[in-house]
Amino acid sequence: MQVLDGREVPLGGLRALTVRRTLPHRDRSFVGAWCFVDHYGPATVGTDGSGGMDVPPHPHTGLQTVSWLFEGEIEHRDSGGNHAIVRPGEVNLMTGGRGIAHSEVSTPATDVLHGVQLWVALPDEARQHRRAFEHFVPEQAPLPGGAGTAYVFLGALAHVTASPVETHTPLLGAQLDLVPGARLDLTLDAAYEHGVLLDIGAVTVEGRELAFGDLACFDAGRDSLTLTAGPVGARVVLLGGPPFDEEILMWWNFVARTHEEIVEAREEWQALSDRFGDVPGYAGPVDRIPAPPLPGGRLRARNRFGRV
Ligand code: MN
Repeated sequence: MQVLDGREVPLGGLRALTVRRTLPHRDRSFVGAWCFVDHYGPATVGTDGSGGMDVPPHPHTGLQTVSWLFEGEIEHRDSGGNHAIVRPGEVNLMTGGRGIAHSEVSTPATDVLHGVQLWVALPDEARQHRRAFEHFVPEQAPLPGGAGTAYVFLGALAHVTASPVETHTPLLGAQLDLVPGARLDLTLDAAYEHGVLLDIGAVTVEGRELAFGDLACFDAGRDSLTLTAGPVGARVVLLGGPPFDEEILMWWNFVARTHEEIVEAREEWQALSDRFGDVPGYAGPVDRIPAPPLPGGRLRARNRFGRV
């Protein structure tokens, strides 16, 4: 078991939301194809939106974003013409493919914002696909032994439930709510890597107590995992997928395979290319987020063992 603690990173955009980022990490790039894990809140949002989220249109390529909230609401708009409200217990899966642009703004009704923003690296055969957006509301399913409940938003959790959302590599994504003192013996797919992110409450994973926001990671080969909740219970996010065997480069909002691809994506965003498209209806004070300058030197790739 490898426990990653999050580093605090200011989220891009116009408000002062800080996120805790556990992936990518110096010591680990992926859990399956999950390549980016941001955990934020609970954050108090002022009546003027301060402390909330206001991320103007920005591009993505080569990845899918998975938005999952515990509290609050986010208004999503993208260049595929999708306009949706992201709500707790409802998953929004946006496929960047070759190129998409989107904006994310916490709604005026939001006084607390709390959730995770996750990215999935698309495999080579799917990474040039056209942009797409999917919304799915999972059932709240009971966990074995009265341990609590689960929302399985992607993939399948044995003896619990499965999500019908199709993915380009096998994935597992679920919120588990454990009742106080629960002991949960999860049956896992041994072909998968797994990660357990602690949100609120207290939980011990395989005998080790996690701190708020920790991501406990397990390599493939395990067929079970024991979680024990503390006296107030716990809410965790469970991620999984078979080891992602490709080498990728991640820079800003792009996932690519070579330095040149990143340079090209950046230039096309700066040049207002059709590759990313326009986001209709975003009403913030700026039209879009400009790409930052590239660092000097060539960007370095990552694989499942870390930086290459
Ligand atoms: Mn984004």
